[in-house]
Amino acid sequence: MNRILVIEDEVDIADLLALNLKQAGFVPILAHDGITGLALARSGSPELILLDLNLPGMDGVCVFKALRLDPLTLRTPVIMLTARAQPEDRVAGLGLGADDYLTKPFSIKELLLRIKAVLKRREAHSPRSPLCAGPLRFDPTALQCYADNAPLDLTITEYRLLQHLCEHAGHVCDRSELLRSVWGHSDDTHSRTLDTHVKRLRVKLGRHARRLETARGTGYLLRTTPLLPGDKSVTQIRLPDAR
Ligand code: CA
Repeated sequence: MNRILVIEDEVDIADLLALNLKQAGFVPILAHDGITGLALARSGSPELILLDLNLPGMDGVCVFKALRLDPLTLRTPVIMLTARAQPEDRVAGLGLGADDYLTKPFSIKELLLRIKAVLKRREAHSPRSPLCAGPLRFDPTALQCYADNAPLDLTITEYRLLQHLCEHAGHVCDRSELLRSVWGHSDDTHSRTLDTHVKRLRVKLGRHARRLETARGTGYLLRTTPLLPGDKSVTQIRLPDAR
């Protein structure tokens, strides 16, 4: 069942949303302010977040930016809810990278349709099923990566980085693309961090370190075709969902 985090300070609206989400088969998680919402987004791993923009203290836009900076919540879809009705607000909301945007008052029926559409879209793009690339295998539910079936001790950031490279195995991933995908933005402040993480990944990859190639001045590339004798490596395939 899909957990949906509702960050909404108006208790009546939050309760109404929770009731309707429950009736539609979702598991609602409620937060009445941004700080609590952020904490629950990290700890409750919701499949989707409904975010009111007009919140006391930390407002919705700040909450959204914080969500996108955290590797744990970076990919969680967000539907923004707001009382602001100006078309430019909608454009701004979507411009920030929200998955959808609803203006209050909205019908619950429409909200549920939008939620289902966003989840469906996300399902099609996100690797919920195990990803295999050469000797590497990813378990997205446990956020665990295996090399030759032995678990690798990766941080979440290293996991995301390696996963992105695997999803594009055999192709150069340029630096800004990696920074955007793993850190949420592509400014230069994280540029050295990327190189540091690649260095650490190579150490952890051990005998497979050579697969992680540097494309000088451009970015990085992961090879999943055989490099070593005895490798049963194959090109990238995505297995059907085992569950
Ligand atoms: Ca509000």
